[in-house]
Amino acid sequence: MGRVLIDIVPMDIVPMDIVPMDIVPMDIVPMDIVPMDIGIIIKERVMIIVGNCNISDDIRDVCFVCDVKKCLGACCVEGDAGAPLEMEEISELEDYIDEIKPYMLDSGIEVVEASGVFDYDAEGSFVTPLVNDRECAFVYFEDGIAKCAIEKAWEEKKQPFQKPVSCHLYPIRITSHEHFDALNYHKWPICKDALRKGRKLGVPLYKFLKDPLVRKYGRSWYDMLVKEIEQSDL
Ligand code: SF4
Repeated sequence: MGRVLIDIVPMDIVPMDIVPMDIVPMDIVPMDIVPMDIGIIIKERVMIIVGNCNISDDIRDVCFVCDVKKCLGACCVEGDAGAPLEMEEISELEDYIDEIKPYMLDSGIEVVEASGVFDYDAEGSFVTPLVNDRECAFVYFEDGIAKCAIEKAWEEKKQPFQKPVSCHLYPIRITSHEHFDALNYHKWPICKDALRKGRKLGVPLYKFLKDPLVRKYGRSWYDMLVKEIEQSDL
């Protein structure tokens, strides 16, 4: 007998000020398309709350370790918008662009010189600019793998800005609301090999992304997250 996992969110655990779009999972299977002979497991989803963050339980449950030899750094190339940027990150890029440029491709330098170090996505949020509506303007290639010129300049100690925190945190995406941040796992087929590698190594997202989570929210927040997850019996 086959099995279908259906994720549901019990509405009584959803804080009143969260808009449903933030928490309703995308992979709900409509009952009328489930064949009669398929067993159904209903897995209740829980929201992990640490400080001002509402964290999807995927971040605890999904195992994920990037496998760049397989994906070739596709997240820097695919997609219809650049990486989300925070306001302060735009200033960092503007301050250090001369140190970053030697690691960029000519095509990326042209974009940045013509229109600046940031662009807007369809919602009007700040993002990194794209070359020909495809790869991030800060991408360069090494052995066929897309890499980040900002990070390369940081590794070579040419400037102090590592890279946008949204890239560092991917595949966790943060949506900032007035009183809290929502942290969700962004599922993207280009990362399928990272799911395989993560499962093989038994590394969940919150451990794989320890450094960027500490960078974004601090060490004591991260320690609270680990405690919350490890003490939970859900
Ligand atoms: S986030 Fe996905 S596409 Fe990007 S490096 Fe990791 S596995 Fe590859």
